[in-house]
Amino acid sequence: MDMPLTITTVMRHAEMYHGDREVVSATSEQDVQRASYSDVFRRARKLFNALQALGCQPGDRIATLAWNHQQHLELYYGVICGGYVLHTINPRLFDDQVAYIINHADDKWLFIDHDFVPLLERLRPQLNNVKGIVVIEPDDDLPENLFTNVHSYEDLLSGQDDNCAWPELDEFSACAMCYTSGTTGNPKGVLYSHRSLLLHTLSVSLLDTDGLGLNDVILPLVPMFHVNAWGLPFRAPLVGARIVFPNRYMGNPQVVSKLIAQESVTYGVSVPTIWQWLLDHLDQTGGNLKTLRKAVVGGAATPLSLFERFRDDYGVELTQGWGMTELCSAGTLNVPGPDFDSMNEADRKQYPLKQGRPIFGLEVKITDDEDNALPWDGATAGHLKVKGPTVCESYFGGTEAETGVDANGWFTTGDVATIDPDGTIQVTDRSKDLIKSGGEWISSIELENWAMTHPAIAEAAVISAAHDKWTERPLLIAVKKPDQTISKQDLLAWFDGKIARWWTPDDVIFVEQLPYTATGKISKLSLREQYGDYLIMGSGG
Ligand code: AMP
Repeated sequence: MDMPLTITTVMRHAEMYHGDREVVSATSEQDVQRASYSDVFRRARKLFNALQALGCQPGDRIATLAWNHQQHLELYYGVICGGYVLHTINPRLFDDQVAYIINHADDKWLFIDHDFVPLLERLRPQLNNVKGIVVIEPDDDLPENLFTNVHSYEDLLSGQDDNCAWPELDEFSACAMCYTSGTTGNPKGVLYSHRSLLLHTLSVSLLDTDGLGLNDVILPLVPMFHVNAWGLPFRAPLVGARIVFPNRYMGNPQVVSKLIAQESVTYGVSVPTIWQWLLDHLDQTGGNLKTLRKAVVGGAATPLSLFERFRDDYGVELTQGWGMTELCSAGTLNVPGPDFDSMNEADRKQYPLKQGRPIFGLEVKITDDEDNALPWDGATAGHLKVKGPTVCESYFGGTEAETGVDANGWFTTGDVATIDPDGTIQVTDRSKDLIKSGGEWISSIELENWAMTHPAIAEAAVISAAHDKWTERPLLIAVKKPDQTISKQDLLAWFDGKIARWWTPDDVIFVEQLPYTATGKISKLSLREQYGDYLIMGSGG
């Protein structure tokens, strides 16, 4: 039958077969609020009716500045299934970037958590097209004077019918958008169609990818504004898993560990830093992760020690995933196959560091600088390119040149990787972080991984620093663990025998902490700005 592949079908399926499954949201550091998927979708209907009453037109961008909670899930479905475009904004970007994004997307209404009222007060003079704001759970008085139209979320919903006829939507129509912040120029908008998000949801849910099911309790420790919390707001209702939202406490390990234990969480996803904080907290408090069946890490390179700590100290399998805003989230997941047991010990140990095999529908290749395809031999590194129904075709309102998709449909990811004969990918760098020393590539990620196997090192970043003779050389910037001492020489000697000698960083800078981006990744751009000339300024010797 000719039925469009829309996100509305996820909602219908969940409502018919998993309506009683629970949606839990932290409301404070101590308390949670409970609802069922049926409750959520009932309120999503009210929201759709409210959006119509506000005069929203099909395709209008409805933006959110909100944490991970039930109301945000209601917005996901009320906006998307109502035929509007849900624009989830990252509030941690610079003010000017947030203002740019709201104006560029031409957002009509902003649904915001009360924490973001001060942000909007600062941005207000730059926002001319926004019709009004809706504050989710205002903490005291509504900021009435901020915009002509200011509503409280509950008041907006309370007058509405919880029945509606959802519109019949074209599966190729846009339904959600996220901006990705490049290192140069303005952030770029990625639009998702119903079809791309549905196909991504199905592909990632397969057993040998993520294998989520009815018995899972899912904890998204990535913000709902970072690539739709990696698709979990669609995957959980599709398979009927319970979902536990940490609200604004994602980076608060006390709250997170309590939620995991209290709600018997079986599955969680996050970036390396957040997982690290959680394990550090559990180490200190003697806590455990007994209910957790699987954890996924992605978004940035992950040190081997994190996989080992999860497995050896907490009995949890930590799986690596690689993805991008432009890919609806996941591109690969590293699930061991039948060959794993017959691998030699060294390969088995290093295996978690790979990003894994592509999800269904995603084609991959690596190329040299002249766009010639390179072999899948697990050794040759090249520019990673992808194509498939979950890949962004062009940026919202962008010029042709910005698109990144070539005439044959290949999207340049900006990552550099090797590919094994079975399609397993290992990312060795971002193109812009590459170190090209004397014309040869050095993998900063491999150097960081080795540096972090040193027992005295907590965090490490390797950047390309300008060099008189070799043009570029690796420079290691490291954070020591508390109470640990180590000299530069000893840390550099740690690389002996582990890598080709000429890969050894030229120098080490110890710092108290590394700079992070708005999505929790180490900001190599800031490090390059600060230390890029370190080796030629004489300070590096
Ligand atoms: P974003 O669109 O903000 O999620 O950023 C996507 C980029 O994050 C990718 O192009 C990679 O450079 C990086 N990334 C994502 N997952 C991983 C991973 N597992 N290992 C290394 N880098 C990653």
